[in-house]
Amino acid sequence: MKRIAIIGGGFSGLSAACYLARDGYDVTLYEKNSTLGGRARVIERDGFTFDMGPTFYWMPDIFEKFFADFGKSASDYYRLIRLNPGYEIYFDSLDSVKISSKLEEIYAVFEQIEPGSSRFLKSYLKRAEYNYRVAIDKVMERPGKSPLELIMPETIMSLSQFITSISASVRANIKSEKLRQVLEFPVLFLGAKPSRTPLFYCFMNYADMVLGTWHIEGGMFKLVEAMESIAKSYGAKIITDCHIDKIVTKNSKVTGVNFTNRKDGVTSSADADFVITSADYHFSETLLDESERNYSEKYWQGRVFAPSALLYYVAFNKKLDNISHHTLFFDSSFTEHAETIYDSPRWPDKPLFYGSFPSITDHTLAPEGKECGIFLIPIASGIKDTPELRENYFLQIISRMERLTNQEISNHIIFKESYSLKNFTEDYHAYKGNAYGLSNILMQTAFLKPKMENRHLDNLLYVGQLTVPGPGVPPAIISGKIARGLTIKKLKNG
Ligand SMILES: Cc1cc2nc3c(=O)[nH]c(=O)nc-3n(C[C@H](O)[C@H](O)[C@H](O)COP(=O)(O)OP(=O)(O)OC[C@H]3O[C@@H](n4cnc5c(N)ncnc54)[C@H](O)[C@@H]3O)c2cc1C
Repeated sequence: MKRIAIIGGGFSGLSAACYLARDGYDVTLYEKNSTLGGRARVIERDGFTFDMGPTFYWMPDIFEKFFADFGKSASDYYRLIRLNPGYEIYFDSLDSVKISSKLEEIYAVFEQIEPGSSRFLKSYLKRAEYNYRVAIDKVMERPGKSPLELIMPETIMSLSQFITSISASVRANIKSEKLRQVLEFPVLFLGAKPSRTPLFYCFMNYADMVLGTWHIEGGMFKLVEAMESIAKSYGAKIITDCHIDKIVTKNSKVTGVNFTNRKDGVTSSADADFVITSADYHFSETLLDESERNYSEKYWQGRVFAPSALLYYVAFNKKLDNISHHTLFFDSSFTEHAETIYDSPRWPDKPLFYGSFPSITDHTLAPEGKECGIFLIPIASGIKDTPELRENYFLQIISRMERLTNQEISNHIIFKESYSLKNFTEDYHAYKGNAYGLSNILMQTAFLKPKMENRHLDNLLYVGQLTVPGPGVPPAIISGKIARGLTIKKLKNG
């Protein structure tokens, strides 16, 4: 039986492990941290549970498709709750827009703010639905090897949407700044400015407004546990606290991995016929000799990275008022904030921020009468990260939230923990402390992303958010599936 070593136990590594173990390969997954999940780990403290990374469960059909590949359904592993509202956006004190789970109510909100705007929204969502089907059914599972993969009647018909941006389309048709921000918000998940994101990606608006925002009871980590259980059910071996130090090669082939047990410091090695690395791409390449790498340092320096993040996990001793499960605080200029992320990387003066309060929906996540809050400020990758900066921004966002939601909260904090660039670098070997990988701008789309295949070593693949299809939980899972197809082909040929 061919032995496959997988480096990293985030969603992409776990996905690859599930598929290849099911196909009968001898799979071993090595994870450096003490728990699986990668960027989706959890903090558990004093009865509070915080998802450390992803909190938006979007595109439920992709998760169902994954489970169906193993004869299962998401409901075999966890309970899904559709959120209503999906989220709320604050623009000023007690001035917010809620995005309902019912389309008719969203149209009504648009009409109320800008008469006539729901007509545009309806046609925009029709286009978004079409693009979603093309993206999910035809494009997303391609390995990004060549531009030819994108040439099909559906994409040729949509060519102009790769030249126009989301912003250009929305701003030409909607006058209200609030509604413009509502429609541009989902694109932020793609890690680029809406003015640089091709209109084709408006399928994110379909995912948002039509497919909806969901929550896993118990938190996102339930998905990690589900994937772990599938991989193990097919015999995959999963080893945590195990840091891969080197991908071993001989005669243009990978022959195994060297690793260190992080608990006792003992080093060891394992042979492998094939290696898939889901660790951050740039770091994965440092496990190879320079002549075996796909890309130079200069290449990485020239990439546009999606934002990193400054996060706070906060326990409150009371239930909070005037907020929704997902609440976005857009009471400042997005243009100025985005400039500090993409154009001239530095700390923003007054950043937009996001708050997730999952204990509003899910009582398993906080003790009764208490609330857990996860706050996220998008920031540039590679900037300075100090305890003072973290503290100053915390004070700023708490005071803004108090004003916007009209309540006193600073005296109700039981504890807080922060997480940012230094932690991303230490915990995941993230290049420049990136949180979400590369921006989905045109020049970093599909076959223009870092390649899955190593061009010097035929039995080495890269998966995860820095290669195709890109950042986000659904793409990471699909990345593992694409790797399965490539691995089987290569093992047959090799
Ligand atoms: C704060 C935050 C919020 C997010 N919010 C959302 C959201 O709401 N919805 C959404 O869909 N997506 C969201 N994302 C994006 C999503 O979480 C990621 O795109 C996805 O989890 C990436 O998975 P991955 O497998 O590519 O990488 P990772 O999760 O980084 O997994 C890689 C793994 O490799 C391990 N590793 C690294 N080096 C080694 C080594 N030498 N040896 C062994 N193991 C190693 C790492 O420890 C890690 O576990 C968010 C991300 C962040 C950071």
